[in-house]
Amino acid sequence: MFQDKKLYLTITLITLLLALLACSREEEKPQKIIEEQRNNDKIKVNHRDKENIKNQQKLADSIIVKTPNYTYTMLKKQLIKLEQNYNNYLQLSSIGKSVQGRKLYLLKVGTGKEKIGVIGGVHGREGITSLLTLKLAEDYIRAMIRGAKINNYNLTEILKKTSFYFIPMLNPDGVEIAINGIKKLDNKEFYLVANQNSSDFKRWKANAHGVDLNKQFKANWQKLKAEKRPHFAHYKGPSPESEPESKALAELTRQEEFDAVVAFHSSGDVIYWYYNQAEESYQRDYQLAKALSAKNGYRIVKAKESDKVAAGYKDWFIKKFHRPGFTIEIGSEINEKPLPSYELAKYFQENREVLLELALLINTN
Ligand SMILES: [Zn+2]
Repeated sequence: MFQDKKLYLTITLITLLLALLACSREEEKPQKIIEEQRNNDKIKVNHRDKENIKNQQKLADSIIVKTPNYTYTMLKKQLIKLEQNYNNYLQLSSIGKSVQGRKLYLLKVGTGKEKIGVIGGVHGREGITSLLTLKLAEDYIRAMIRGAKINNYNLTEILKKTSFYFIPMLNPDGVEIAINGIKKLDNKEFYLVANQNSSDFKRWKANAHGVDLNKQFKANWQKLKAEKRPHFAHYKGPSPESEPESKALAELTRQEEFDAVVAFHSSGDVIYWYYNQAEESYQRDYQLAKALSAKNGYRIVKAKESDKVAAGYKDWFIKKFHRPGFTIEIGSEINEKPLPSYELAKYFQENREVLLELALLINTN
């Protein structure tokens, strides 16, 4: 190949030197930079596709970022921006209105036949789950547009087979009360009594009627022992689906007949999956819960432990449809308080693959 042996040796030597230099440079990088690069590498971009490169420029900034005191007003702003940026890749609508007239937004991502409902912001003080839900939605949209993978998950493929129905904030009134209190509300006496005469509303879980939206579904509702009257938490209301928010969610679920649902709550780092399943569904759902737990590292709550809880959304979903439903409690156990919004990145990383894994697993089932 090389007639001149010297030239061949010189080229080999230069190649070796360059390779050595590259290696030593890699080693010189501070750990932090290498880690950042690794994180960036997780999303692999197909550079050959010119259309994708154009889209990447549009994708420069993430719209869903950590936002302290995340309220309906902020959610609405972010949803409008998402729609402006990615209107070809999502459908934004509303499934009804809250007691105080706020919209219950639905963001549909994907075009697949399999349907997964993802619900956040069920409880007032859990607004961080609204932020997390939207962050996941945005992440999947952006990966799809770039033709990118999230770790090993091919979003284009997944979103062809699966449609995610994100309801980021089921309880906008409750979120507002937990963050801004009742200054702007009439009927202050009602809220003060429901809050045990405390003017600190940070622990508020209920909707604006003082009803706990996760105790509103037809799954042992009659038997459920809870607060007897409007309360900051744990009042099940006068009847199942008596509240516009729980009714809207139940109606959407009946209409779409989701293949699986995930409701994000806080806190505890746990996954609830059980509700008196018959043997066959029991095994299926337990295996799914284990697979999700392998992704986010949260503890699976045992069947017996879970038995006391009822009339929740996932309980009703499992009972009515005999399909897998999960309540995922994000964040370390924190008593009657909101989780800190600066932890969004942590909750996001933990749960980023959970919905994707679920989508893949129920597709092969
Ligand atoms: Zn909750």
